[in-house]
Amino acid sequence: MMRLSEPQHSFEQTLDECVTGITGNAVLRQLLTSEKTALTAVGVQYLGAADTGKLYTILPINTDGNIDPVVINTLTKNELIKIYEQYFSPKKKPARKIYDALLNAAKEKCPFCGGIGTPRNLDHFLPKTHFPQFSVLPHNLIPACRDCNMDGKMHTFATKAEEQIIQPYTDNDRFFIEQWIFATYHADDDREPGEFEYYVFPPENWTEVDKQRVKKHFKNFNLAKRYAIKAAELLGTVLRQIKHMEQTDLDSEIIQSVLLQPGEDTSPFVNHWQKGMYQALIRARTT
Ligand SMILES: [Zn+2]
Repeated sequence: MMRLSEPQHSFEQTLDECVTGITGNAVLRQLLTSEKTALTAVGVQYLGAADTGKLYTILPINTDGNIDPVVINTLTKNELIKIYEQYFSPKKKPARKIYDALLNAAKEKCPFCGGIGTPRNLDHFLPKTHFPQFSVLPHNLIPACRDCNMDGKMHTFATKAEEQIIQPYTDNDRFFIEQWIFATYHADDDREPGEFEYYVFPPENWTEVDKQRVKKHFKNFNLAKRYAIKAAELLGTVLRQIKHMEQTDLDSEIIQSVLLQPGEDTSPFVNHWQKGMYQALIRARTT
Protein backbone atom coordinates (compact mmCIF):
# COMPACT_ATOMS: atom_id res chain seq x y z
CA MET A 1 0.00 0.00 0.00
CA MET A 2 2.69 2.41 -0.95
CA ARG A 3 1.83 4.70 -3.81
CA LEU A 4 3.99 4.41 -6.93
CA SER A 5 4.02 7.24 -9.43
CA GLU A 6 2.64 6.20 -12.76
CA PRO A 7 5.03 4.57 -15.26
CA GLN A 8 6.94 7.02 -17.44
CA HIS A 9 6.82 4.85 -20.54
CA SER A 10 3.61 4.34 -22.45
CA PHE A 11 2.34 0.96 -23.59
CA GLU A 12 3.03 2.03 -27.18
CA GLN A 13 6.67 2.89 -26.46
CA THR A 14 7.05 -0.42 -24.66
CA LEU A 15 5.64 -2.36 -27.61
CA ASP A 16 7.95 -0.48 -29.98
CA GLU A 17 10.98 -1.42 -27.87
CA CYS A 18 9.83 -5.05 -27.81
CA VAL A 19 9.47 -5.04 -31.61
CA THR A 20 12.99 -3.63 -31.94
CA GLY A 21 14.27 -6.45 -29.77
CA ILE A 22 12.72 -9.21 -31.86
CA THR A 23 15.68 -10.02 -34.06
CA GLY A 24 15.46 -13.70 -34.76
CA ASN A 25 11.75 -14.17 -35.35
CA ALA A 26 10.42 -12.26 -38.34
CA VAL A 27 6.95 -13.74 -38.00
CA LEU A 28 6.49 -12.61 -34.41
CA ARG A 29 8.00 -9.24 -35.19
CA GLN A 30 5.51 -8.72 -38.01
CA LEU A 31 2.65 -9.99 -35.88
CA LEU A 32 3.38 -7.67 -32.97
CA THR A 33 3.80 -4.72 -35.31
CA SER A 34 0.44 -5.31 -36.93
CA GLU A 35 -1.36 -5.89 -33.60
CA LYS A 36 0.12 -2.87 -31.86
CA THR A 37 -3.02 -0.79 -32.28
CA ALA A 38 -5.28 -3.53 -30.97
CA LEU A 39 -3.01 -4.07 -27.99
CA THR A 40 -2.81 -0.38 -27.08
CA ALA A 41 -6.62 -0.31 -27.25
CA VAL A 42 -6.87 -3.00 -24.55
CA GLY A 43 -4.26 -1.05 -22.60
CA VAL A 44 -6.60 1.95 -22.61
CA GLN A 45 -9.35 -0.34 -21.34
CA TYR A 46 -7.11 -1.50 -18.50
CA LEU A 47 -6.36 2.07 -17.44
CA GLY A 48 -10.02 3.03 -17.55
CA ALA A 49 -10.96 0.10 -15.33
CA ALA A 50 -7.98 0.64 -13.02
CA ASP A 51 -8.76 4.32 -12.48
CA THR A 52 -12.22 3.47 -11.20
CA GLY A 53 -11.13 0.49 -9.08
CA LYS A 54 -12.78 -1.94 -11.49
CA LEU A 55 -9.95 -4.10 -12.77
CA TYR A 56 -11.92 -7.10 -11.56
CA THR A 57 -14.43 -6.51 -14.38
CA ILE A 58 -11.85 -7.46 -17.00
CA LEU A 59 -12.41 -11.12 -17.71
CA PRO A 60 -9.57 -13.63 -17.92
CA ILE A 61 -8.99 -15.20 -21.32
CA ASN A 62 -11.11 -18.19 -22.07
CA THR A 63 -8.78 -21.11 -22.59
CA ASP A 64 -11.59 -23.59 -23.09
CA GLY A 65 -9.24 -26.53 -23.03
CA ASN A 66 -7.01 -24.87 -25.61
CA ILE A 67 -3.46 -24.50 -24.28
CA ASP A 68 -2.63 -21.63 -26.62
CA PRO A 69 -5.79 -19.64 -27.36
CA VAL A 70 -5.87 -16.60 -29.61
CA VAL A 71 -6.06 -13.48 -27.46
CA ILE A 72 -5.79 -10.40 -29.67
CA ASN A 73 -6.84 -10.90 -33.30
CA THR A 74 -4.07 -13.30 -34.33
CA LEU A 75 -1.75 -13.08 -31.32
CA THR A 76 -1.89 -16.10 -29.07
CA LYS A 77 -1.37 -16.44 -25.35
CA ASN A 78 2.03 -18.10 -25.73
CA GLU A 79 3.21 -15.41 -28.11
CA LEU A 80 2.21 -12.66 -25.70
CA ILE A 81 3.95 -14.38 -22.82
CA LYS A 82 6.99 -14.96 -25.01
CA ILE A 83 7.13 -11.24 -25.76
CA TYR A 84 7.47 -10.60 -22.04
CA GLU A 85 9.91 -13.40 -21.35
CA GLN A 86 12.17 -13.11 -24.38
CA TYR A 87 11.83 -9.55 -25.62
CA PHE A 88 10.98 -7.43 -22.57
CA SER A 89 12.68 -8.76 -19.44
CA PRO A 90 16.05 -10.17 -20.70
CA LYS A 91 18.96 -7.90 -19.85
CA LYS A 92 20.28 -7.56 -23.38
CA LYS A 93 17.00 -6.47 -24.97
CA PRO A 94 16.19 -2.78 -25.64
CA ALA A 95 12.89 -2.99 -23.72
CA ARG A 96 14.86 -3.95 -20.62
CA LYS A 97 15.45 -0.26 -19.91
CA ILE A 98 11.69 0.07 -19.34
CA TYR A 99 11.76 -2.95 -17.04
CA ASP A 100 14.61 -1.36 -15.09
CA ALA A 101 12.91 2.04 -14.96
CA LEU A 102 9.79 0.43 -13.45
CA LEU A 103 11.85 -1.56 -10.96
CA ASN A 104 14.00 1.41 -9.93
CA ALA A 105 11.00 3.67 -9.48
CA ALA A 106 10.10 1.68 -6.36
CA LYS A 107 13.35 2.89 -4.74
CA GLU A 108 14.05 -0.47 -3.13
CA LYS A 109 10.68 -0.54 -1.39
CA CYS A 110 8.04 -3.10 -2.26
CA PRO A 111 4.69 -1.29 -2.57
CA PHE A 112 2.60 -4.30 -1.54
CA CYS A 113 4.11 -4.77 1.92
CA GLY A 114 4.85 -1.10 2.51
CA GLY A 115 8.59 -1.32 2.00
CA ILE A 116 9.57 -4.11 4.37
CA GLY A 117 10.79 -6.08 1.37
CA THR A 118 13.05 -5.00 -1.50
CA PRO A 119 11.66 -5.54 -5.00
CA ARG A 120 13.70 -8.02 -6.98
CA ASN A 121 11.53 -8.28 -10.05
CA LEU A 122 8.34 -7.07 -11.66
CA ASP A 123 5.10 -8.77 -10.88
CA HIS A 124 2.02 -8.91 -13.10
CA PHE A 125 -0.87 -7.34 -11.22
CA LEU A 126 -3.25 -9.23 -13.50
CA PRO A 127 -1.30 -12.47 -14.01
CA LYS A 128 -0.01 -13.04 -17.51
CA THR A 129 -1.31 -16.60 -17.60
CA HIS A 130 -4.87 -15.32 -17.46
CA PHE A 131 -4.37 -11.85 -18.92
CA PRO A 132 -1.54 -12.24 -21.46
CA GLN A 133 -2.67 -9.12 -23.34
CA PHE A 134 -1.22 -7.10 -20.43
CA SER A 135 2.07 -9.01 -20.25
CA VAL A 136 4.13 -5.89 -21.09
CA LEU A 137 1.67 -3.13 -20.14
CA PRO A 138 3.72 -0.88 -17.80
CA HIS A 139 0.76 -0.18 -15.49
CA ASN A 140 0.32 -3.91 -14.96
CA LEU A 141 3.97 -4.41 -13.98
CA ILE A 142 4.66 -3.83 -10.33
CA PRO A 143 7.98 -4.13 -8.52
CA ALA A 144 7.51 -6.71 -5.78
CA CYS A 145 9.67 -8.33 -3.15
CA ARG A 146 10.11 -12.06 -2.97
CA ASP A 147 7.59 -12.47 -0.17
CA CYS A 148 4.91 -10.49 -2.00
CA ASN A 149 5.53 -11.78 -5.50
CA MET A 150 2.20 -12.92 -6.87
CA ASP A 151 3.45 -14.49 -10.08
CA GLY A 152 5.47 -16.96 -8.08
CA LYS A 153 2.89 -18.23 -5.69
CA MET A 154 -0.67 -17.97 -6.71
CA HIS A 155 -1.78 -16.83 -10.14
CA THR A 156 -4.91 -15.54 -8.55
CA PHE A 157 -6.90 -12.50 -9.48
CA ALA A 158 -10.00 -10.80 -8.18
CA THR A 159 -13.36 -11.64 -9.65
CA LYS A 160 -15.28 -9.40 -7.26
CA ALA A 161 -14.75 -5.75 -6.29
CA GLU A 162 -14.04 -6.57 -2.66
CA GLU A 163 -11.35 -9.13 -3.54
CA GLN A 164 -9.06 -6.58 -5.16
CA ILE A 165 -5.76 -5.83 -3.51
CA ILE A 166 -4.43 -2.28 -3.74
CA GLN A 167 -3.00 -1.26 -7.13
CA PRO A 168 -0.05 1.03 -6.33
CA TYR A 169 -0.15 3.02 -9.60
CA THR A 170 -3.82 3.61 -10.04
CA ASP A 171 -5.85 3.09 -6.90
CA ASN A 172 -7.67 5.82 -5.03
CA ASP A 173 -5.61 8.15 -2.82
CA ARG A 174 -7.59 7.17 0.23
CA PHE A 175 -5.71 3.88 0.50
CA PHE A 176 -2.40 5.72 0.69
CA ILE A 177 -3.18 8.81 2.76
CA GLU A 178 -5.72 7.55 5.30
CA GLN A 179 -4.68 5.23 8.08
CA TRP A 180 -6.21 1.74 8.07
CA ILE A 181 -3.42 -0.32 9.67
CA PHE A 182 -3.12 -0.15 13.46
CA ALA A 183 -1.52 -2.16 16.22
CA THR A 184 -2.06 -3.03 19.85
CA TYR A 185 0.77 -3.68 22.29
CA HIS A 186 0.27 -6.64 24.61
CA ALA A 187 2.62 -6.78 27.56
CA ASP A 188 2.37 -8.21 31.04
CA ASP A 189 3.87 -5.80 33.53
CA ASP A 190 6.54 -8.24 34.57
CA ARG A 191 7.30 -9.81 31.28
CA GLU A 192 8.64 -7.25 28.86
CA PRO A 193 9.09 -7.12 25.95
CA GLY A 194 5.52 -7.70 24.88
CA GLU A 195 4.07 -8.30 21.45
CA PHE A 196 2.40 -6.25 18.78
CA GLU A 197 -0.80 -7.29 17.16
CA TYR A 198 -1.45 -5.55 13.85
CA TYR A 199 -4.95 -5.25 12.47
CA VAL A 200 -7.05 -3.45 9.90
CA PHE A 201 -9.41 -0.73 11.01
CA PRO A 202 -10.57 1.27 7.99
CA PRO A 203 -12.19 4.70 8.33
CA GLU A 204 -15.89 4.50 9.16
CA ASN A 205 -16.95 6.51 6.09
CA TRP A 206 -15.36 4.14 3.54
CA THR A 207 -17.58 1.93 1.42
CA GLU A 208 -17.97 -1.70 2.43
CA VAL A 209 -16.06 -2.71 -0.70
CA ASP A 210 -13.07 -0.53 0.19
CA LYS A 211 -13.07 -1.87 3.75
CA GLN A 212 -13.05 -5.43 2.44
CA ARG A 213 -10.31 -4.62 -0.05
CA VAL A 214 -7.82 -3.45 2.55
CA LYS A 215 -8.61 -6.48 4.69
CA LYS A 216 -7.92 -8.68 1.70
CA HIS A 217 -4.67 -6.87 0.95
CA PHE A 218 -3.52 -7.16 4.57
CA LYS A 219 -4.33 -10.86 4.68
CA ASN A 220 -2.94 -11.73 1.25
CA PHE A 221 0.48 -10.36 2.02
CA ASN A 222 0.52 -11.71 5.56
CA LEU A 223 1.13 -8.24 6.95
CA ALA A 224 -0.02 -8.94 10.52
CA LYS A 225 2.80 -11.39 11.03
CA ARG A 226 5.41 -9.57 8.96
CA TYR A 227 4.78 -6.24 10.71
CA ALA A 228 4.78 -7.82 14.16
CA ILE A 229 8.23 -9.22 13.38
CA LYS A 230 9.55 -5.82 12.28
CA ALA A 231 8.11 -4.16 15.37
CA ALA A 232 9.57 -6.82 17.66
CA GLU A 233 13.02 -6.15 16.20
CA LEU A 234 12.81 -2.45 17.05
CA LEU A 235 11.07 -2.89 20.37
CA GLY A 236 14.18 -3.88 22.34
CA THR A 237 15.87 -0.61 21.39
CA VAL A 238 12.82 1.48 22.22
CA LEU A 239 12.36 -0.22 25.60
CA ARG A 240 16.00 0.41 26.45
CA GLN A 241 15.57 4.08 25.52
CA ILE A 242 12.50 4.32 27.74
CA LYS A 243 14.29 2.65 30.63
CA HIS A 244 17.25 4.94 30.28
CA MET A 245 14.98 7.99 30.33
CA GLU A 246 13.12 6.71 33.36
CA GLN A 247 16.41 6.21 35.18
CA THR A 248 17.25 9.85 34.57
CA ASP A 249 13.94 10.75 36.21
CA LEU A 250 12.08 11.84 33.10
CA ASP A 251 8.36 11.43 33.54
CA SER A 252 6.20 9.61 31.10
CA GLU A 253 4.82 12.76 29.45
CA ILE A 254 8.34 13.83 28.55
CA ILE A 255 9.19 10.35 27.32
CA GLN A 256 6.15 10.44 25.14
CA SER A 257 6.91 13.87 23.71
CA VAL A 258 10.62 13.35 23.04
CA LEU A 259 10.67 9.67 22.09
CA LEU A 260 7.37 8.04 21.26
CA GLN A 261 5.49 10.84 19.55
CA PRO A 262 8.46 11.66 17.28
CA GLY A 263 8.66 7.95 16.47
CA GLU A 264 5.09 8.04 15.30
CA ASP A 265 5.45 11.37 13.50
CA THR A 266 8.57 10.38 11.56
CA SER A 267 7.07 7.17 10.27
CA PRO A 268 7.64 7.13 6.47
CA PHE A 269 3.93 7.02 5.61
CA VAL A 270 0.59 6.63 7.28
CA ASN A 271 0.21 2.84 7.06
CA HIS A 272 3.85 2.04 7.85
CA TRP A 273 4.34 -0.56 10.60
CA GLN A 274 6.38 1.92 12.61
CA LYS A 275 3.44 4.29 12.97
CA GLY A 276 1.20 1.56 14.31
CA MET A 277 3.94 0.44 16.66
CA TYR A 278 4.57 3.82 18.29
CA GLN A 279 0.85 4.54 18.50
CA ALA A 280 0.36 1.23 20.27
CA LEU A 281 3.16 1.96 22.75
CA ILE A 282 1.73 5.39 23.50
CA ARG A 283 -1.69 3.89 24.07
CA ALA A 284 -0.31 1.11 26.28
CA ARG A 285 1.52 3.65 28.46
CA THR A 286 -1.36 6.08 28.85
CA THR A 287 -4.18 3.69 29.60
ZN1 LIG B 1 6.67 -6.91 -0.46
